[in-house]
Amino acid sequence: MITRSPAPLQRHDEGEPLTLQPAWQAQLAGAVRDPRELCRRLGLDERWLPGAEAGHELFEVRVPEAFLSRMRPGDPHDPLLRQVLPLDEEVRPTPGYVADPLEEAAHTPAKGLIHKYSGRVLLIASPACAVNCRYCFRRHFPYAENSPSMAQWEATLDTLRDDTTIHEAILSGGDPLAASDRRLAWLVARLEEIPHLTRLRIHTRLPVVIPDRIDDTLLTWLGGTRLQKVMVLHINHPHEIDDAVIAACARLRAAGVTLLNQSVLLRGVNDSVAALATLSERLFEAGVLPYYLHVLDPVAGAAHFDVPDDEARELVAGLRELLPGFLMPRLVREIPGEGSKTPL
Ligand SMILES: *Cc1c(COP(=O)(O)O)cnc(C)c1O
Ligand code: SF4
Repeated sequence: MITRSPAPLQRHDEGEPLTLQPAWQAQLAGAVRDPRELCRRLGLDERWLPGAEAGHELFEVRVPEAFLSRMRPGDPHDPLLRQVLPLDEEVRPTPGYVADPLEEAAHTPAKGLIHKYSGRVLLIASPACAVNCRYCFRRHFPYAENSPSMAQWEATLDTLRDDTTIHEAILSGGDPLAASDRRLAWLVARLEEIPHLTRLRIHTRLPVVIPDRIDDTLLTWLGGTRLQKVMVLHINHPHEIDDAVIAACARLRAAGVTLLNQSVLLRGVNDSVAALATLSERLFEAGVLPYYLHVLDPVAGAAHFDVPDDEARELVAGLRELLPGFLMPRLVREIPGEGSKTPL
């Protein structure tokens, strides 16, 4: 007689995917989204909780496991935790800190498209991010209104096709790599058909916070395109770069992707010559060149991250004494209405 007990089945299923969902999507879905859980996981004192919960109401907490695992438990000042833990300072209004500091709402001719730089356009490929960074200049961006459907993409693609001055498509977000590979492969195939487009650039934090995002499916569409490929990562502190990130970068480079990094200069995260110098060295070990070091955009809720311009210049001068020129990021500010970043 055959008895069907569920126990052996469960044992058999353990560790096996129940659906065809890629590993990275499961990690994205499983990210920590509860401020209490974040504090508990890191063994933080209760006094951090009210601030975390208040900030979470404004812009929700989101931290993938792979990023959380690089934080030091018990340290409320951990440079990675500081980027994702809401503090009570967030809810205090600060003069000059506004919802849309870059006035992007004014540069959106088609849904999901931001055209404010000459020769290149930003396409909002995904409204979501894998991690919610407290200092983000888009923390109040109306993504829902700027997240196009497949049909709306057609209008955006028409705009690109009609403007032969555009040579570079920049996939942005949110985080463009939060979109499915099916959607991204479709989009890149459509972009490839536009003859005056030569470059595809992707601004993403996903290879850092969920390195498993760089899987074979992604490498198939990305490696296969005729477009020249540039990926601009977003890493602020050397502790963000672990072996899994280095391996993801190696896979990207093997697929012909040029890797650059942009950082934001953040109080309490990377506001020291030592942290910035180690970051540049670590990036180079991963095959990534430092590109921009942004000063903070004055977005409401992020004033506590600000580093004054004079101090930013001093830090960069200190960095220049230590590093070769090719490891020096460009210190820049984004000024609304300007067609490029402004060097400080
Ligand atoms: C500045 C910026 C760009 C354009 O960058 P360049 O490298 O100066 O062409 C594109 N996307 C984002 C998100 C930016 O901040
Ligand atoms: S990943 Fe980038 S866009 Fe998303 S919250 Fe962080 S800084 Fe903002």
